Amino acid sequence: MTKGSFATVVDSFRATLSSLPDKRTGKNTRYEMLDAGLGAFSVFFTQTPSFLAHQRKMADTKGRSNAQTLFGVHQVPSDNHIRELLDGISPPVLYPVFDSILQLLQATEQLSSFRSFADNLLMPLDGTEYFSSTKIHCAHCSTRVLKSGETHYYHSVVTPVIACPGRSEVIPLVPEFVVPQDGHDKQDCENAAAKRWFVQYGPRYRDLRITVLGDDLYCRQPLCERLLTEQFNFILAVCRSHIKRSTNI
Ligand SMILES: [Zn+2]
Repeated sequence: MTKGSFATVVDSFRATLSSLPDKRTGKNTRYEMLDAGLGAFSVFFTQTPSFLAHQRKMADTKGRSNAQTLFGVHQVPSDNHIRELLDGISPPVLYPVFDSILQLLQATEQLSSFRSFADNLLMPLDGTEYFSSTKIHCAHCSTRVLKSGETHYYHSVVTPVIACPGRSEVIPLVPEFVVPQDGHDKQDCENAAAKRWFVQYGPRYRDLRITVLGDDLYCRQPLCERLLTEQFNFILAVCRSHIKRSTNI
């Protein structure tokens, strides 16, 4: 990404973070929310192993000037203060950032360099757990019973990306959280979350000519039908052990 493009992405990100809802009132709250959002993001951007390590790095002159130069961080609030400010924010508030990055890559023709098989963009689907505990849980947790008999509580999310063989960078798209759905007794799962994603975002992305990739969690007829309806190509693999299980070979 060129220096100018990066600045455009950061501007769009800053504009979204500046408009984060804040229940508090006071003259400096807008900058605090912006700094909290940028502070949380820079932990991931700099790939620091922990928040504490990040705070230490920020205390170092070089680290601080990096964050200030790249993102225009005013003052990074403490770990606890960031959680306090951001915990109540609904994730969809940040979703416009994903689209503005994609639009920019499209406008500057950088997206086309990600095209590979059949001149399509490859979109691997995968889920990841971002919370896991046997002790702490909430009303929105998914659960599984461990061999020990203990209940494992977790939160997971399906994270579609645009990827290209041989390239280490990927373009993240809007995620879909795996959460209990209103009116459904059955536990929500990655496959159902993926279906919701295509119902909601399929019409927006279908013109990009995308081939969806997924493992056997996604290789189910209803999702395949949804992908056909939304006009996506797909390669969904059934793993060998799954074939053996289902055919009793
Ligand atoms: Zn929970």
